[in-house]
Amino acid sequence: MNSLLVADTVSKQFGNFTALNGVSIAVPKGSIFGLLGPNGAGKTTLIRIINQITMPDVGSVTLDGEPLQQHHIRDIGYMPEERGLYKSMKVGEQVLYLAQLKGLDKAEAKKRAKYWFEKLEIGAWWNKKIQELSKGQAQKIQFVVTVMHNPKLLIFDEPFSGFDPINANLIKDEILQLRDEGATVIFSTHRMESVEELCDHIALIHKSNKILDGEINEIKRQYRNNTFDIGVEMDA
Ligand code: ADP
Repeated sequence: MNSLLVADTVSKQFGNFTALNGVSIAVPKGSIFGLLGPNGAGKTTLIRIINQITMPDVGSVTLDGEPLQQHHIRDIGYMPEERGLYKSMKVGEQVLYLAQLKGLDKAEAKKRAKYWFEKLEIGAWWNKKIQELSKGQAQKIQFVVTVMHNPKLLIFDEPFSGFDPINANLIKDEILQLRDEGATVIFSTHRMESVEELCDHIALIHKSNKILDGEINEIKRQYRNNTFDIGVEMDA
């Protein structure tokens, strides 16, 4: 298996609390990898470690075989669950500014922004401030900011939480298209239904531990054969 991202026995304590306990994942290139688990399981902690926002106490993470370094931030697009946009800045200014932080020059940033704003039909918001947009509209801007520098690895933490079903489906289709174009995706959620629609592989995280991982159908089979009660909505 050719993995883009490998996390090897990663652990993290906050005071006396163990948020991650020796968790390992290997994310195959060109796939959508689901981190599935109930709230509080440790998914965001792992994602923040991959994004170098939090340092692990133990364990290592590699991207394309290299230990994570500062410059890898440009290879990763991260859509956090909590919105990370400046409320009083105009949408267009902010999109161009954040794209340049991710390594695009201004001309390229404008070109990529035009592409995405036309694709999602959101050009009318360009001169608005984030605070004038609804939660779902701001989330679409966050999506554009996440993907527009064409990173190797895309990470979405509960990306559908602020969207109505129509827009959730639209973003889902965009994620599938990005995967088909070669991106590798980590998708974190507490909803089995979402991973079934999107993911090729999943890791089931529960109480700071990884308890299962593999291809989606295999996980469903193992899950059915066990008596886990981890608060994940698992149909079928
Ligand atoms: P998930 O994303 O699966 O919902 P998190 O990784 O956000 O889970 O959280 C796992 C646990 O770690 C939670 O109980 C949370 O309260 C705790 N936690 C996360 N970050 C911190 C922090 N900076 N300080 C203390 N506890 C934290």
